[in-house]
Amino acid sequence: MIQFKNVSKIYKLEKSNKELHALKNISFTINEQEVFGVIGQSGAGKSTLLRMINQLEVADQGSVIVDGVDMCQVNANDLRYYRKDIGMIFQQFNLLSNLTVEENILLPLKLHHYDEFLDLNEILRFVGLEDKRHSYPAHLSGGQKQRVGIARALIIKPKILLCDEPTSALDEQTTSEIVDVLRRANKKYNITTVIVTHELNVVKALCQRVAIMEEGQLIDLLTITPSDSVLKSQTYRERAMEVLADES
Ligand code: ADP
Ligand code: MG
Repeated sequence: MIQFKNVSKIYKLEKSNKELHALKNISFTINEQEVFGVIGQSGAGKSTLLRMINQLEVADQGSVIVDGVDMCQVNANDLRYYRKDIGMIFQQFNLLSNLTVEENILLPLKLHHYDEFLDLNEILRFVGLEDKRHSYPAHLSGGQKQRVGIARALIIKPKILLCDEPTSALDEQTTSEIVDVLRRANKKYNITTVIVTHELNVVKALCQRVAIMEEGQLIDLLTITPSDSVLKSQTYRERAMEVLADES
């Protein structure tokens, strides 16, 4: 369980000496094994909120409690330990271009000691990249790169998966494939999944609940019924015709 309690974040803008209230007194709870969405326009504070869960951003006020531990209070050493339960994926994938697919996926295990981790072959099969294990990122499509990102996050057997705009650099067909991988990961590995996006159809396809953010405030918390049909019902041509064709 992840609890935000009265969390505020102020960025001090160096040049103008001004302050930017990126998060304003945010309180809510994300349940165990839930797929939880955070939506809002660019600049609403979504990434700041997400990055507080693994302390890539530090709150100025309030607390972020992950499985009973106030992440705002732990020291650097303990933070390394608690972060071992949290995986993260990014819009731009953040792969190392000089490493192969399998070297990228194994990287977390090279950097830190993990008592438990997934078998490389299992995870390659899970994300459908068995035939690409020796390829370099430059030779992969966007969807394949994000699958590597997901595999790298999953290999450490995280309890929580943080996703920052995971499909925003991808076309619609690839988005639906990545959504499918994330849904399967949530079910198979019992991962609490927090997904930040501005894409409403991704939230509708994946999430059980969603927080709506606006200018640093959480303005709504909705329970939704996930529906895959928003992503899969139409072909690209059908969608194009719907949006572009003249009505007659
Ligand atoms: P979102 O992910 O919803 O687009 P962010 O959380 O990235 O929003 O940013 C929220 C606000 O905080 C924006 O106005 C952004 O410009 C500002 N911001 C984010 N990171 C920083 C930073 N490191 N320094 C100063 N301002 C920042
Ligand atoms: Mg963002």
